[in-house]
Amino acid sequence: MALPPPVYPEYGWYHVGLCDLEEQRITCEWCKLRQIRYVHVLRHPDHSGKIRVGKICAGYITKNNQLAHDLHQFFFSRRGVNERIIDSPRWKKASQYVEELKTRDGYLISIYTSGGAYICTLTCIETGEKRKSQLIYMNRIDMIYAACDAITDHIMWRRWKMKFFGDKR
Ligand SMILES: [Zn+2]
Repeated sequence: MALPPPVYPEYGWYHVGLCDLEEQRITCEWCKLRQIRYVHVLRHPDHSGKIRVGKICAGYITKNNQLAHDLHQFFFSRRGVNERIIDSPRWKKASQYVEELKTRDGYLISIYTSGGAYICTLTCIETGEKRKSQLIYMNRIDMIYAACDAITDHIMWRRWKMKFFGDKR
């Protein structure tokens, strides 16, 4: 295992997300060795910006192999869920321009379309939190995938917060 580069603090890193680059690969920003597809995004309170690393380095840097492993497994387990959301027969037209789905894990996906472009809002039914898509998508499936990623991210964040802070923060 490579030692941490001196520019990075050694303790205090935490997870802020995980993403799949699909076909792309980047080099892990910590070990500068491994080519990674599943990117663990970490942040540190005294370090501006985020670092993007592989699972093994994420466990090492956060001193929490178990959490890095659990997040990774959870991320994989969501792929089947995403396929079910895309193919769900429960999508409903709320109007000519809006279709909606309530997911089984408690989110409302609302997709708005106009002139072949798609945007979306995602509502966590339990907390009432709403997120808007940051990009305009030109394809319905890509829009739904983006919404699924946002759901995965939100669930991971809530679990992580519960685990380390209780649910007060
Ligand atoms: Zn690495």
